[in-house]
Amino acid sequence: MDHRLNPEHEELRRTVEAFAHDVIAPKIGDFYERHEFPYEIVREMGQMGLFGLPFPEEYGGMGGDYLALGIALEELARVDSSVAITLEAGVSLGAMPIFRFGTEEQKREWLPRMCSGEVLGAFGLTEPECGSDAGGTRTTAVLDGDEWVINGSKCFITNSGTDITGLVTVTAVTGRKDDGRPRISSIIVPSGTPGFTVAAPYSKVGWNASDTRELSFSDVRVPAANLVGEEGRGYAQFLRILDEGRVAISALATGLAQGCVDESLSYAKTRKAFGRPIGDNQAIQFKLADMEMKAHTARLAWRDAASRLVAGDPFKKEAALAKLYSSTVAVDNAREATQIHGGYGFMNEYPVARMWRDSKILEIGEGTSEVQRMLIAREMGLSA
Ligand SMILES: Cc1cc2nc3c(=O)[nH]c(=O)nc-3n(C[C@H](O)[C@H](O)[C@H](O)COP(=O)(O)OP(=O)(O)OC[C@H]3O[C@@H](n4cnc5c(N)ncnc54)[C@H](O)[C@@H]3O)c2cc1C
Repeated sequence: MDHRLNPEHEELRRTVEAFAHDVIAPKIGDFYERHEFPYEIVREMGQMGLFGLPFPEEYGGMGGDYLALGIALEELARVDSSVAITLEAGVSLGAMPIFRFGTEEQKREWLPRMCSGEVLGAFGLTEPECGSDAGGTRTTAVLDGDEWVINGSKCFITNSGTDITGLVTVTAVTGRKDDGRPRISSIIVPSGTPGFTVAAPYSKVGWNASDTRELSFSDVRVPAANLVGEEGRGYAQFLRILDEGRVAISALATGLAQGCVDESLSYAKTRKAFGRPIGDNQAIQFKLADMEMKAHTARLAWRDAASRLVAGDPFKKEAALAKLYSSTVAVDNAREATQIHGGYGFMNEYPVARMWRDSKILEIGEGTSEVQRMLIAREMGLSA
């Protein structure tokens, strides 16, 4: 399998690389320090078409594919992960459920504005009592006439409380199967619906220029037509959405791992100790060689999973392998980048400090590393 980019993808990569370098890099540190959502940067990303990358033109998209999305995410995360996760969650968690499972009316209503970046969507799966065990959803939705009445809460939801957030698709129990297991469905809740409360942003270790909130639903009424796909199919839907999301997160993690190499390589060439650049020491060279090896291998892993996805082939195991590997090496590279920078690596004004803080969540979000190992083992034929 050839994982080199075709001319179209390479042009996209260069465009996003230049944008990240020229527009994001000079500004993002201030947003991060202020824990502020970077509206102006997100607006420009929307104008570039990044939020519409994998969607057809008829819905306002760019007519690209998941490989294109991954390329953009990797280039953004080489410079900053907050903007990268805003794009990742906006596309693969916000818009994708509507594109994959929504009605034609839902697609026409939401996708054009989401593709342009004018409106952000969120995906509310995780709850205070259940994250990895997502089937343990406690939020309920009861059909009352032609409305769903939703009660419950969600936590850690990305993009759920910005000024441009238009909706959150929530998973909720809508009934019980004959064996007593819950029937889970996905339902669109537009921002501002009475009874839908969005808490203040969390104070986080990293991703400080991205928006993450707790949500609560108290007798929230939305039209029955806001159901996404069939009633009771929500569990299968979010498994698919998370499989795809892992490919995207893996591309993002690869970008962070590569960004650590970029920053450390230039620092190692200029920082002097004992009268010569620290990069002249084999100990530093070996760290950099290992970091480059890990970023390169992570790239092959996510591109392999993305190619399978795009080709319509099974990709569940490859997505889990890519997510597990790339998040592990992102944490490794962030740790080594900080080490190479010495005391300066512990100063927030240095990009590697931000990368270090942003790396850990990659082993947690969209399925922890333990969950990825469970998925891989299951795909290898081992029973749970
Ligand atoms: C910044 C941020 C953004 C997020 N964005 C979103 C979002 O947009 N939408 C959304 O729905 N969620 C989001 N999440 C939630 C995220 O996906 C969950 O935090 C994650 O899936 C883990 O769930 P949990 O936190 O409940 O941990 P738990 O499930 O409680 O797990 C705790 C620990 O136990 C381990 N564990 C659990 N079960 C097993 C097992 N069977 N075997 C071995 N180990 C196990 C886990 O791996 C983990 O190490 C976000 C989280 C963060 C921090």
